Amino acid sequence: MDIFEYRKDFPILDQEVNGNPLVYFDTSATSQTPVQVIQAMSEYYEGYNSNVHRGVHTLGTKATEAYEATRMKTRQFINAKRFGEIVFTRGTTAAINLVARSFGDMMVESGDEIIVTEMEHHANLVPWQELAKRTGAKLVFIPLEDDGTIKIDSVKNVVTDKTKIVAITHVSNVLGTINDIKEIARIAHENDAYIVVDGAQAVPHLAVDVQDLNVDFYAFSAHKMLGPTGIGVLYGKMEHLKKMEPVEYGGDMIDFVEKETSTWTEVPVKFEAGTPMIAEAIGLSAAIDYITEVGLENISAYEDKLTKYAMEKMRNIEGIEIYGPETRAGLVTFNLDGVHPHDLSTVLDSDGIAVRAGHHCAQPLMRLLGVSSTARASFYFYNSTEEIDRFIEGLKRAKEFFNYEL
Ligand code: PMP
Repeated sequence: MDIFEYRKDFPILDQEVNGNPLVYFDTSATSQTPVQVIQAMSEYYEGYNSNVHRGVHTLGTKATEAYEATRMKTRQFINAKRFGEIVFTRGTTAAINLVARSFGDMMVESGDEIIVTEMEHHANLVPWQELAKRTGAKLVFIPLEDDGTIKIDSVKNVVTDKTKIVAITHVSNVLGTINDIKEIARIAHENDAYIVVDGAQAVPHLAVDVQDLNVDFYAFSAHKMLGPTGIGVLYGKMEHLKKMEPVEYGGDMIDFVEKETSTWTEVPVKFEAGTPMIAEAIGLSAAIDYITEVGLENISAYEDKLTKYAMEKMRNIEGIEIYGPETRAGLVTFNLDGVHPHDLSTVLDSDGIAVRAGHHCAQPLMRLLGVSSTARASFYFYNSTEEIDRFIEGLKRAKEFFNYEL
């Protein structure tokens, strides 16, 4: 993989931060945007900016076609059966909230159980906590192993005939754990339960086939996969989407509006009230093209190489603790003895190296790990081993600096 060729498409990476060439190791928070995506969005604004599904004039028709073409492309990208199973939302958070509000309120009753894990991002935990409060259902946690993985036997132990929904992340944004969604979906269905998957950290890095996984719902965000902020995707099986009530009301999603009552249009537009994210959808389409061109298999294999390289070097630094399993997605969450993650991140930033520090929107997991925060370096196909070498040097410098201070 010629990453230096790809890097030419990412002008943002070619800059100095605090007098040093930027090393961007925060893709898990948001990925960088190639010129092809930026161009697709500016072509829309320069050439055919117009509302969709409304006017029949030329610009409006072109915008509608581009918006709906993204739906088709997304269907193909995750291998959904029908393009109507692709609902555009503001992001993963909005997608999961939509399922919890609409499908959750319809399906879950007092005494039912909702299964989650302690590795969930708040986006896939808090909506279920709120659903449990509204309905009198109980949240049940699949226990994690010491290395941050989930045993299939543990899933079998907690998923019972009381279970209504299993809500789980495909890839952990903290541990990098890759969950066996296909098998967990099989267990859920065997118990007449439904599975909702947070795919925010999976879709940018692994080939995802929603039919093969046989999931009921799957959510992800464009901004973590080379696309713009402000748009994400909810995949839902058509049989569920058809039964679900919208959670937002207004223009576009209606069929007939009387003075007192209204009826809704078809899935998926029923869930897309108001003017949607048109430029963002066009950007997402270009992002899917770019990722497809690079190839998800190539991306996974390359990230794996980078992650192994980083972990091997990090392990040579005394006092480092790395969280999560050996087999993982392209990120490393860690702590350095005697250095607060925020201080570490500040020192690395002075070297031009961007890593994330904090609780990563996963406070229950931080508690389980016995820490209040961690640092995280996350990689994508535009990163290099040379950048990892600079990061390792930065870690060593930070350690020396703070040990000296102590
Ligand atoms: N789930 C996971 C695993 C994530 O990493 C993120 C983003 N940090 C989200 C959900 C939320 O995504 P968004 O902020 O785009 O809605």
